[in-house]
This record gives sequence, C-alpha cells and structure tokens, in this order.
Amino acid sequence: MRRSAVSDDRDYDVIVIGAGISGGTIARELSRYTLRTAVLERAWDIPYGASRANSSMIHGGFDDKPGTEKARFCPEGNRMYRTLHEELDFKYRNCGSYVCAIGPEEERHLELLLGYGKANGVSGVEIVSGDRLRSREPNASLEITAALWSPTAAIVNNFEASLAFIDNARANGVDLFMETEVTGLLFSEDGSRMRGVSTKRGDFNGKVVVNAAGVNSDLISRMAGDDSFTILPTKGEYFIFDKSVGHMVDSFFFSCPSEKGKGVTVARTADENLLIGPTSVVQDDRENRNTTQPGLEEVFDGASRLVPNIPRNMAITNFAGVRANSKNGDFHIKALDRPRGFVNVAGIKSPGFTSAPAIAVHVVDMIKESLGDLVKFEPNPKFTPERRHMPRFSELPMEERERLAKTDPRWGQIVCRCESVTEAQVVEAIRRGARTVSGVKLWVRPGTGRCQGGFCAPRVVEILARELGVSPLEITRHGEDSYMLTGETKERERL
Ligand SMILES: Cc1cc2nc3c(=O)[nH]c(=O)nc-3n(C[C@H](O)[C@H](O)[C@H](O)COP(=O)(O)OP(=O)(O)OC[C@H]3O[C@@H](n4cnc5c(N)ncnc54)[C@H](O)[C@@H]3O)c2cc1C
Repeated sequence: MRRSAVSDDRDYDVIVIGAGISGGTIARELSRYTLRTAVLERAWDIPYGASRANSSMIHGGFDDKPGTEKARFCPEGNRMYRTLHEELDFKYRNCGSYVCAIGPEEERHLELLLGYGKANGVSGVEIVSGDRLRSREPNASLEITAALWSPTAAIVNNFEASLAFIDNARANGVDLFMETEVTGLLFSEDGSRMRGVSTKRGDFNGKVVVNAAGVNSDLISRMAGDDSFTILPTKGEYFIFDKSVGHMVDSFFFSCPSEKGKGVTVARTADENLLIGPTSVVQDDRENRNTTQPGLEEVFDGASRLVPNIPRNMAITNFAGVRANSKNGDFHIKALDRPRGFVNVAGIKSPGFTSAPAIAVHVVDMIKESLGDLVKFEPNPKFTPERRHMPRFSELPMEERERLAKTDPRWGQIVCRCESVTEAQVVEAIRRGARTVSGVKLWVRPGTGRCQGGFCAPRVVEILARELGVSPLEITRHGEDSYMLTGETKERERL
C-alpha cells in the first residue's frame, strides 16, 4: 500500500485502527459515503495480523451455534464473497468442504453441525458416507466413515483479498497511514466523546474511532475504559507443500471439531499448493509466530488422519498465525455509550475472514443509526465498487503474454521462476505501495514457490531499490531493521 504522507490536516470523521480484513472491509463500506476516513496501521505491509496467516477458508457457516454473532455473520459473509471476488478481482475457488468423521462418536457430531447449518440458513449441507466422499476425493482416508458436505464453502488468496478491500477503499477516497501505531485515545474535555487517537506519528482527530486492532483490540478498548472482554492469543501452525501435490484434494477437509477448535484441515489453496494445519495453542505473547517441532508434528499427524501419504519431503515452508480469540468465544462488536464514538470490532477469530464483509455492513449501519449525529452520511458520488489486480502472468495465455511483452519489455523479464512473476508485476506492486521484500511477495508472490526466494530475492531487492530510489542496503524483508544486506561485498572482503 502506498503510504499517505502525514499532512497537517489530520481531521477525520472516522478513524479505523488496523488494516486487516476487518479494517479493510469497514473502510471500503465507509468509502461509499463522503466521510473523511483514515485507516491507521502499525505494520509496514498489509496484511500483517491474523489476516496474513490463516487457512483462507470461506466457511459455509454451519460451525457456530445459532444465535451467536459468528452464526449471524459467517453465512452472510460467505454469500457476499461470491460476488465480491469478481468486483474486487481476488482469487477465489468454490471448492466446498467436508467435515470428516471417524467412528460413531464423531458421526454424532456431524448431526449437530448439520442442525446448526440448517438453522443458520446454509444451503446444500448434507451428510454423506465415507464411500461417497472417497468417490469424489480418492485420497481421503479409508478410516473416514461419514462427512458433512458443505457446497458453498470456498477458498481465497487471503493476501489478495485483504489488499483488494483496502486498495478499493483508497481509490474511493480513504487515507491509509502505514507504520502508524495507535498508542493512546483522545477524548472530549468531559470524557463523554471521542476526539481522536495519538500515534507514534502524532495525533489524529476523529469523531468516530473503530477498533479493528485484532490481537491488540482488548488493549485499545481498555484505553477507552472498556475491559468487558479479553483476548487470548491462540497460535496456529501450518505446513505448505509444493504445487505438484496440491491435487491430492479438491475440497477443503476438516477434522471433526473439538473444544480446541475446528481441528487440523487439509486443503488445496487458491494458488494450488497443499496446505495443512493449524494447531491451536493459547499463548501470552501476542506477537510470537514461530513454528515449533511439536506443533508441526501435530499438524502432520492430524492431516495424515484425513489424507494419508502426504509426501513430507514436498513441504516447502511452514508458518504460524495468531488468532484474536475472545474469552467468551464470540465476536465482540459494539459501540460504547461512553465515550460516544468508540466502536469495538474485536475478538474477530475464525470465521472472521469469512464474516468480515458482513460485519463491515453491520458496523457502518450501526454508526449511521447510533452515531449519525456525530458524522454525516452522504452518498459518495464517485464511489466505484470495482478494482482490478495486476495481470497474473503465470495464468495468462501465451498470446496475451506476448502482447504484454511487446507493450513493455518488463513483462518479458521473469524475476521469480517458481511462480513465473515478471519484473512488470514487481514494479506494479511497488507502485501500489509495497516497500519491502515481503510486501512484494504479498502482492504478486515472488518467493512463495519451491525455492522460497532463494533465486528471486536479490532481484526483488534490486528492483525495490531502483523504484524507491534508495540504496539496496536500505531494503528490508518486512520493515524496521530486517535488512536484507549487511554491506558491499568488497568492503566485507577487505575486513
Ligand atoms: C491460524 C488461523 C486460522 C484461521 N483460519 C480462518 C479461516 O480459514 N477462515 C476464516 O474465516 N477465518 C480464519 N481465521 C480468522 C481470521 O484470520 C481472522 O478472523 C481475521 O483475519 C481477523 O481480521 P482482523 O482484521 O480483525 O485482524 P488482523 O488481521 O489481525 O488485523 C489487525 C490489524 O491491526 C493492526 N494493529 C494492531 N495493533 C495496532 C495499533 N495499536 N495501531 C495500529 N494498528 C494496529 C495489526 O498490525 C493488524 O494489521 C483464522 C485465524 C488464524 C490465526
């Protein structure tokens, strides 16, 4: 994301804290109006928090107990993604999902989920036999005795989706400030209303402040005097496998859920890799995203229960994400009575990615209804719902590749061989706001293939330095002091 320069004019109607999928979808909904909206994000790249490291599943909506916020927003979010992916041009595959039962006890659980699905208005959910599952998914374990099929489930590229909402919001007039960590809140003199926020880059005035700070949302809420919920950071670890084994499954496989969560899953990602995970471990540290040997063993064992014979030597990387689970287990979406103007969009755990577009519509309606005296909602005559991602070279027919290369030779220069990413795509990612090696990877995927950036990272550093007009020594992996290079080679040799 291109960073807006911090100007003296920092008067906003609405300030959104956090540019994850919650902040991004809310910002886009707000951009339908002529409001002055700013999104403040502490990280260098988007997505950064849970929206960056998750299963990317657009859940059907049968998991959650009817009557909960999750059961309310998840099926609606699922429906919205069916058109949103076309409007905003992010990768989406309607793969359907199976919750797999092994034995009578787990089969009873499928009945419960089927009931939830029907009550939550999820279309097409049904229980199928293990044999029927295997007729469609030949690599499914022979141990699976029955499965709950949900045809509306889908999988997205979570990087592209997160970027798409915020990109479109910006095109419709929202200001985005990166590396802008909110450190305090500002109130009217009598403390009854919001006046803005203080950040590491100075103060911002705002009449309404939306707290979409993910794993830090309880800390921000406490600054407003509200300690009604607590976040329990909960880590989930994953393996990603080479695309050559992505075909092992077509649909999204879930284990039967337990108290710990939805269990280990096996899926083919929107980019055709095989993904297995996650674990579910509560930790004190809100930032720790290290993978661990026991965690990865648990993932592999859990996945092998559903799909045996996953070739471990085809794993290309592992990663972890941290869920912002709230202690009561549900989303916490609420406007405070005092200070007026403070809105929590917190505890957005799974299925938060799925639910986000529906939550965003609800939050904007809530602001309109309960805080309409603070900010004026006039339709934005320039609102454009569509935006395009840059062309995905690896997916283009040969004639189109040739046409692009004739218009600009950088379309003919392959930077990342594993993912067939061209120099033109890298340059476009930088033009749209990527400033780090990770940022470029989130936009256009160099470094996500089998070599994990071994070949393309130096080239990406070179292009970043050239396009940003800085020395390669200043280029970082993901911001702050994560420099890619330590000095000139000849200088090193002289030492
Ligand atoms: C392991 C795992 C698996 C999951 N699988 C799925 C799934 O398959 N399907 C699904 O629907 N959901 C899934 N989820 C849940 C989903 O990822 C989250 O619900 C969703 O991404 C939450 O989005 P968010 O914007 O609320 O939070 P985040 O994405 O965490 O964004 C919060 C943002 O706030 C910023 N921030 C924090 N503090 C500050 C501050 N003080 N100032 C400024 N900015 C700040 C952070 O940098 C971050 O960018 C999963 C989550 C995890 C971790």
